[in-house]
Amino acid sequence: MKEQTIKEYKAEHKLKSKVCTKCGADKALSEFRTRVIKNRNNYFYTLGQCKKCLKELNKVWRHENIEKMREYSREYKRNNPIIVSKKELERKALYRMENREKIRENAKIYYVNSIEKIKKQKKINRKKSAKFLTDGYIKGILRAKSKYLLSQTLIPNEIIKLKRIQLKIYRELQRG
Ligand SMILES: [Zn+2]
Repeated sequence: MKEQTIKEYKAEHKLKSKVCTKCGADKALSEFRTRVIKNRNNYFYTLGQCKKCLKELNKVWRHENIEKMREYSREYKRNNPIIVSKKELERKALYRMENREKIRENAKIYYVNSIEKIKKQKKINRKKSAKFLTDGYIKGILRAKSKYLLSQTLIPNEIIKLKRIQLKIYRELQRG
């Protein structure tokens, strides 16, 4: 092993081939990854496994360690909340920018698919609001009956309370 540039190293090994320690195939050196020796910038070597085998090994490793990696990622996020969230924000912003059309399309599909669900939920909510005479429900009635266009925020709490009492009495009378 000698000191040389990556260019020199590659030129020297260009025509040579090597037997992969994993699959045993005799392959051109371009099929193997080149590494530099740690802390020695101008010393290169070629890995024992070919690129294809490395890819396979990585896949197996990732599969076996996916839980470990997830746990590591969670741990990292816990310990570095600001850095990660900033990075994530940037990544998300970039994603949104690059996928604007796709996101819009997905939202449309989601909306169409869930519109029935939303309608159903709204109906349930309306029934609940009516049963428990919530502020929102009473405001709705007041606005519907008002000759003046009362916006929700303009209706004073006292009026809502009075209306609630009135509705309760009315319901009692209907029941009786
Ligand atoms: Zn191989």
